[in-house]
Amino acid sequence: MDDLGCPRCKTTKYRNPSLKLMVNVCGHTLCESCVDLLFVRGSGTCQECNTPLRKSNFRVQLFEDPTIDKEVEIRKKILKIYNKREEDFPSLRVYNDFLEEIEEIVFNLTNNMDIEDTKRKIEQYQKENKDTIQRNKVKLTREQEELEEALEVERQENEQRRILLQKEEQLQQKMKRKNKQELLDQLETSRLPASILLAQHKGKTTQIEMQVERAKPTVTFSTGIKMGQHISSVPIPKLEEALYQYQPIHIETYGPAVPPIETLSRLGYLNHVRAASPQDLAGGYTSSLACHRALQDAFSGLFWLPH
Ligand SMILES: [Zn+2]
Ligand SMILES: [Zn+2]
Repeated sequence: MDDLGCPRCKTTKYRNPSLKLMVNVCGHTLCESCVDLLFVRGSGTCQECNTPLRKSNFRVQLFEDPTIDKEVEIRKKILKIYNKREEDFPSLRVYNDFLEEIEEIVFNLTNNMDIEDTKRKIEQYQKENKDTIQRNKVKLTREQEELEEALEVERQENEQRRILLQKEEQLQQKMKRKNKQELLDQLETSRLPASILLAQHKGKTTQIEMQVERAKPTVTFSTGIKMGQHISSVPIPKLEEALYQYQPIHIETYGPAVPPIETLSRLGYLNHVRAASPQDLAGGYTSSLACHRALQDAFSGLFWLPH
């Protein structure tokens, strides 16, 4: 593996873990001491590509690949100019084209392709969209301020909540101490048995705890959920529809009605079928069932149906 290092003095991160690598607009790396040495007068040229550089433009290299540092810097600069938002475009299509143009510019500048053309294009765009750029810049600043304000409010609320909780805690401690003292006094003076006094004391302690629980302030978080509020994440579904009602199936047999299964024995039908053995009954078989089926079979289709 190539160890990261300064191309000029050949110091590596391996040999000097505190080595600070810097990168400038052209994307070439130098270590901090080489930068100090080469840019004593505040400006100079890159050792590798001769690009004129300012010392103040050197940044600490954040990525292993310095080209990424370069791209990040370029992107930041380009997005300050190309700061239109989706609402500035008539359709998503046009907005996407705009985003693609930004990518192309960033790519070209990062990889030193069509530098002159691309720079001309940026200048042209900047001239044509001067007002929009300025307007969006102001908008962005305002949004930033609003966000900071919201964060500040939340911070203050947190602080207040902390103080309130602290007070509650102190109060609770005080009440508990008082309650304990009372118990001791009662144990000394009362004629009631100790077990009853202890039970009373326990009841009182629970009461105090419940009071404290109830007195806890409800504070709204930025999520809109109140503190101490118990939330079930699953809403309980409410059944509105009518309950299912069983309707017996009506079978059209196109024949005389078959007597109901319960009446077969009484009407003597079962005298004509084989009685079920204990083994048959164990399997769920009954004589009436078979007899009923046989009757349904015999009776069905006896009526003549004109078509
Ligand atoms: Zn160096
Ligand atoms: Zn360079």
